[in-house]
Amino acid sequence: MNTIIEPFRIKSVEPIRVTTQRERQKLIKSAHYNLFGLRSDDVIIDLLTDSGTGAMSSAQWAAILNGDESYAGSPSFYRFEAAVKNLMPFVHIIPTHQGRAAEAILMSIYGGNGKNIPSNTHFDTTRGNIEASGAHGHDLVIAEGHIPDNLHPFKGNMDIKRLDAFLQKYGNSVPCVMTTITNNAGGGQPVSLENIRQTAALAKQYGKPFIIDGCRFAENAWFIKEREAGQGSRCIEDIVRDCFAVADGMTMSAKKDGLGNIGGWLALNNDDDAELARNHLIRTEGFPTYGGLAGRDLDALAQGLAEVVDEDYLRYRIQVNQYIVDRLDSIGVPVIKPAGGHAVFIDARAWLPHVPSLAYPGQALAVALYEIGGIRACEIGTVMFGKQPDGSEAAAAMDLVRLAIPRRTYTQSHADYLIEVFEELAKVKDTLLGYRIVKQSKLMRHFTCEFEPLI
Ligand SMILES: *Cc1c(COP(=O)(O)O)cnc(C)c1O
Repeated sequence: MNTIIEPFRIKSVEPIRVTTQRERQKLIKSAHYNLFGLRSDDVIIDLLTDSGTGAMSSAQWAAILNGDESYAGSPSFYRFEAAVKNLMPFVHIIPTHQGRAAEAILMSIYGGNGKNIPSNTHFDTTRGNIEASGAHGHDLVIAEGHIPDNLHPFKGNMDIKRLDAFLQKYGNSVPCVMTTITNNAGGGQPVSLENIRQTAALAKQYGKPFIIDGCRFAENAWFIKEREAGQGSRCIEDIVRDCFAVADGMTMSAKKDGLGNIGGWLALNNDDDAELARNHLIRTEGFPTYGGLAGRDLDALAQGLAEVVDEDYLRYRIQVNQYIVDRLDSIGVPVIKPAGGHAVFIDARAWLPHVPSLAYPGQALAVALYEIGGIRACEIGTVMFGKQPDGSEAAAAMDLVRLAIPRRTYTQSHADYLIEVFEELAKVKDTLLGYRIVKQSKLMRHFTCEFEPLI
């Protein structure tokens, strides 16, 4: 069979409210042209994020009823801990309410003024937590990772030579080395097992702990299985275990490959660091056997971790992205190739060459997608990364628009509708003007900043 179907049936449905273009023009204007400001029931297809927006399985909902809400020592925690350790063999598993809480705790240990933390590419919340601690984040992805149509199979790889030079240059100011799998901010591109091992070896050589931001570990493992020499016949669980076996810790948003609507964790091997982390956790999240989550959430995640490594699921998951990328490519929309794991990325700078980066071509494209088709996407470019530590503004490495695909939520016909919206957009794209920011916060401005259209 060539058709890769959704490997599930639908037991419960959520209606979508269909709006008109005229309504949407008013709605986005009153949200100050920031898509985060919209009400989600004013959105037809919500591709803002794949975070926590997936559909849980009937087995996960059943697990929710088994949740034990004891404050300390809940069996839900031990089921959760066992499910994590089955895939990621770390000594200490510390639950948090989401990934950023795990990052904040990690940075309370490793961050601080004058510290320098390298990664392939830090995600925005990771960078936010690093900077809030006074440290600096550095992105050392391979050069191919910045070339939208370069077909390198592992465009999320760390540039090992640059990392070596970095570690020499910054020496004692480097508290740890990180890597993000898959590389979300860099296009959902995977990192090879070989590259993870090389990064780990280099970190070890310099005596630095190696921490994986593992939000999309299962999608990354699928790419390793598909693309890396010698990995094709191995099972996903074993590939996942190999990735984490060389790390000293991980941060996780279980809203991604935990298949949960909420949750996360910090894992560490070092006992002293784990004690510091748990003390911080008790102050900010909760007791170490629930860490900001309800017992039922921990059970939903334990079940989610068993489902996310299923090969039928992962094949379908990656195929959806491939399908959208191929169709957009065939109608001339510049997309990041090869397709990433959780999202499709449009190169807005290339598609709207008449809009300069400092007028935010990604924002112009994202707003137009909403107005024309009710599709909510996310700018990942100069709005998100353009503000410099000194307050000035510079073009980001790329101006992308991300169509993040929620897990197990939309169907093939939603994908076909999306392509049609792009066909409509192609007819008017040359008339799109950019935006200026009229109000913004100091950190992570993209969530709340207000825009005005340039006329
Ligand atoms: C989502 C995400 C985070 C943050 O997790 P939250 O659960 O949203 O706080 C960190 N890193 C990456 C790569 C992510 O995708």
